[in-house]
Amino acid sequence: MQTVNTLGTLREAVESLRATGPVALVPTMGALHQGHLTLVREARARGAQVVASIFVNPRQFGPNEDLDAYPRRMAEDSRLLSEEGVAVLWAPDVAEMYPQGFSTNISVTGVSDNFCGASRPGHFDGVATVVCKLFNQVRPDLALFGEKDWQQLAVIRRMARDLDLSYPHVDAIYGVPTVREADGLAMSSRNQYLSAEERQAAATLPTAMRAALAAIAGGTPVADALASLRASLLAAGFSSIDYADLADAASLEPIAAPGAVPARLLVAARLGSTRLIDNMPLG
Ligand code: AMP
Repeated sequence: MQTVNTLGTLREAVESLRATGPVALVPTMGALHQGHLTLVREARARGAQVVASIFVNPRQFGPNEDLDAYPRRMAEDSRLLSEEGVAVLWAPDVAEMYPQGFSTNISVTGVSDNFCGASRPGHFDGVATVVCKLFNQVRPDLALFGEKDWQQLAVIRRMARDLDLSYPHVDAIYGVPTVREADGLAMSSRNQYLSAEERQAAATLPTAMRAALAAIAGGTPVADALASLRASLLAAGFSSIDYADLADAASLEPIAAPGAVPARLLVAARLGSTRLIDNMPLG
């Protein structure tokens, strides 16, 4: 695996990779776990050479969020990616990604309006801007993202469609199902912020979400199922709930009753100072 920190060396590395076949991009913020590594495996299973990026993107963190505390483990991450057969690790610093005078912002409206877009103002602008840059830097044939961040995936697909991106084309942006711990908790770099007690309580999130989905599928009104879900989370020790809603899986518009369109249950809730998100399909 070749690790590159400047755009010039990235371009050279990707150029020689491209000569050998399709190139896949797996963007990450590091502190890697099996969820990230599954994206790499999925890319390789699609016959691509993998460029993985590690960049803790300041533009997607709010002023009172965990940018400084966000775990950074470059040596360990580099070993894990190398073992997975990643060809190039793209690890720019902030000045390489956002040189002096950087002034452009990509803002995707609609799909980013609710949920994390509402509770983390500016977050998806930061995501769309950095992902668009990563796409242009690497010009991958395909890119892989986790369904763990369902709204993020929708924002990126919308951007790729709206800006007529070719590298990658919107149809070559793949979502990979959420990888979970044995007790159902979605893997996340932020799980390591949890104390032992909080980690135990965290497992209530997927359990309560599954119960709510089963209730809705069984005919319980959505509002009642969501009220029980919220009550279960608060009873388990969650301190607050940013949102817990059923939404149209594609438009991310909240829906009050299941209907013809695929629906997704989306939740963000806080355990102490740690914010956890999860989402699951209805049916
Ligand atoms: P992050 O490092 O949190 O920005 O995540 C990098 C990529 O890994 C994103 O596309 C995430 O959606 C994806 N990802 C994070 N956690 C998981 C998980 N538990 N299962 C699958 N993909 C994940």
